[in-house]
Amino acid sequence: MTKPAVHLPEDIRRRIIEHCEAELPNEACGLLAVSDGEVVTVYPTRNADRSPTSYTVDPADHIGALLDAESKGWELGGVYHSHPNGPAELSDIDRAKALEPEWIHVVVGFGGGEPEVRIFD
Ligand SMILES: [Zn+2]
Repeated sequence: MTKPAVHLPEDIRRRIIEHCEAELPNEACGLLAVSDGEVVTVYPTRNADRSPTSYTVDPADHIGALLDAESKGWELGGVYHSHPNGPAELSDIDRAKALEPEWIHVVVGFGGGEPEVRIFD
């Protein structure tokens, strides 16, 4: 099966791309709230690394997103980040430092010019 188990609505996809474009040339990152198998909102967070080749979700932004999601009966179920100069693939480092193994991971790759969004779950 190649169909992702978690659905990424078009408006969410667009907001992720907009955030990743705004942060260029650095990697952007953010968290995703999930409810009933659907991504219901996106929390753009600061990249504490401020780097074009790595990201760390800012801890204060992470807590803020968690509290907001829980207040609405959602849970955090995913993370996204961008590869300003690379493909929409999870790198070995991405896999190794994944915040939560069961989360979905969305990667936005700009290596081909047009942003490409891929979901890994
Ligand atoms: Zn990466």
